[in-house]
Amino acid sequence: MKPIPGNKIFDALKDTNTIVMATNIRMMNGVALGVFKAAKEMDAAVIIELAKSECDLKGGYTGLTPELLGKKSKEAAKKAGHDIWALHADHTTIKKGDEEELNSIRKLFDAHISAGYTSFAIDASFTFDVNAPTVEKALKTNIESTTKMYNYLREKMKGKEFGIEVEVGEIGYHDGRGNVKTSPEEAVAFIKGLKANGVEPDLLAIANGSAHGNNYDADGNLIPQLSIDVKQTIKVVEALKKAGFDVKIAQHGITGTPREFIKTHFPKKAILKGNVGTFWQNLVWDVLKENESDLFNEITEWTLNSFRKEAENKGIKKDDQIFGLYSKKANGQFFDKLYNLKKSTVDAMESKAFGEAEKFFDAFNAQGSAEIVRKNLRRKPLKKYKKPGKNIKKPKKNTEKIIRN
Ligand SMILES: [Zn+2]
Repeated sequence: MKPIPGNKIFDALKDTNTIVMATNIRMMNGVALGVFKAAKEMDAAVIIELAKSECDLKGGYTGLTPELLGKKSKEAAKKAGHDIWALHADHTTIKKGDEEELNSIRKLFDAHISAGYTSFAIDASFTFDVNAPTVEKALKTNIESTTKMYNYLREKMKGKEFGIEVEVGEIGYHDGRGNVKTSPEEAVAFIKGLKANGVEPDLLAIANGSAHGNNYDADGNLIPQLSIDVKQTIKVVEALKKAGFDVKIAQHGITGTPREFIKTHFPKKAILKGNVGTFWQNLVWDVLKENESDLFNEITEWTLNSFRKEAENKGIKKDDQIFGLYSKKANGQFFDKLYNLKKSTVDAMESKAFGEAEKFFDAFNAQGSAEIVRKNLRRKPLKKYKKPGKNIKKPKKNTEKIIRN
């Protein structure tokens, strides 16, 4: 089961009340199959993604290269029999925007494309110049770098369609006064600049109060995340709409946000893509703790020994918090062991991931979203489908007949 172009999913669902779940699964064993089986069960569109820090040509901190992630995702999709999904490059981060850095991104995109990726996030949000006199000038490097990388993707995808996410405002960025959020003015100036250069983004990631990973209070206790600024998010989307830009929000950093809050408070027509990452890693550690405690203890010990100093320099002292913030690095370190777990452990990961993914699809109002995407695919057949509609129209006629009779 190959991934479909991301833009086909975003186009089909942008005016519905659905958020598409994008999962950063740092350890695919069992978890990916559970997510795909839940997507199949609920007929929900789903996205598999990893950021550049998690997955690059050398494997990032998860040990997964784009090629490996592509292979494992396709295997899980096939096993579950799920057709409506995209393979997305999350946070392809550009920090400076010089040619040397952009060339390394070009190489990474080449690897994504040959692994079958169908959607890409170009993230040059770090380049924001806080000292610039105007918003336009502050965004200059971001707009230029994003444009260059978009043009590169266009050229290398050779006419094939793909999804595109761009980013303004670094997720979870704090200045001296607190969490810095993206203003409507900034978002409009950014998209305006990109559109003037011919860039057509499907999604915009903004800073709106969320943070990546697990959240802790000042005493190091794990706390739920309720800091996503819903009003500001709606304001940004309304400003974009008013300016004539049909771009929706990619919500980053959802781990720790109660599903009930997502279900009742998330503005579904403003947020189109919801990234869930660390949640799946927490699930893996929970299952491992129960089923293979020796390995879990080994991972805990390695994490604490390797990162205690770095954590303490940041004022983090509690073991639980150090583990919660740094154990992501263990995914690559223990790669061989994590992909050689007991069958019963993998089965437990799959069944737990299945149940949790169902809860997310429910909170995101995503049940049946895959069928909306399928209809969109039929309406505008892709070039690569040589005989569009051949397998679709006939059964439809039969169904109609049965109903009429
Ligand atoms: Zn993110």
